[in-house]
Amino acid sequence: MQIINSPAEMQAISRAWAKGKSIGFVPTMGFLHEGHLSLVRESKHNCDITVVSIFVNPSQFGANEDLVSYPRDMKRDLELLEGCKADYVFCPEASDMYPKPYHSWVNVDGLSEVLCGASRPGHFRGVATVVLKLVNLVKPDYMYMGEKDFQQVAVLNTMLKELNVLTRIASCPIVREPDGLAMSSRNTYLTGEARQQALCLSKAIFNAKLMYKEGCRNVNSIITECQSIISSHGGETDYIKIVNPNTLLEELIPKDDSRIILAVKIGKTRLIDNASITPDTL
Ligand code: AMP
Repeated sequence: MQIINSPAEMQAISRAWAKGKSIGFVPTMGFLHEGHLSLVRESKHNCDITVVSIFVNPSQFGANEDLVSYPRDMKRDLELLEGCKADYVFCPEASDMYPKPYHSWVNVDGLSEVLCGASRPGHFRGVATVVLKLVNLVKPDYMYMGEKDFQQVAVLNTMLKELNVLTRIASCPIVREPDGLAMSSRNTYLTGEARQQALCLSKAIFNAKLMYKEGCRNVNSIITECQSIISSHGGETDYIKIVNPNTLLEELIPKDDSRIILAVKIGKTRLIDNASITPDTL
């Protein structure tokens, strides 16, 4: 496994990759867990070369968000990636990714402004910009991303398509803890009671799927039930929506391919989760 810090070196390596080799790429912000590793394994399974990036991207954090406290453990991350036989790990410095003065940004209108984009202005501009930069450095055929960040996948699919980038996203299922909590690097913030409270996200989703299965097609009833599950656990709802999976627009009547998607604060920790409304397993 080769570790690369310099963007120029990453680009030189990717330019020299043999024609015909398939390149899989897994962008992450590190503090890796099974969710991340599932993406690495998927890339290893399908591609000739797997590149993982570890970069806590400052431009996707708002002024009052957790950039400084975001969990980091590079030594452990590298051990985990070695265990998965990743071929390259790209871990650049912020000052090399955004040399000052920095001017160039990518905006994906519409999709970036709803759901998490409404609560986190500028977030998806930061995400789209760093991902386009990483794609230009790594030149992957496939980018492995988690459905955990469902809106992120929608924004980036649009960005790649509309900017004529040939990289395709392979979106992979959410990996959960045995009790249903979606794995997230931010789960490390959840201590004591908060860890139990955090179960309200998956419980609300599970309940919504059950209501749908039992024939309920009333969006407001489903969302009201979700809200009451969340507040009874001490969570603070940022949003709960039932949306079209492609446009992310709210559905008037939920359909089999609709997505229930939510963001909830447990204390200071903001968590997200989503699932198809159809009653498969969570
Ligand atoms: P992050 O390090 O949070 O930026 O996440 C890096 C990638 O891992 C993104 O594509 C995420 O969607 C994905 N990911 C994060 N958590 C999970 C999870 N629980 N299951 C599957 N993929 C995940």
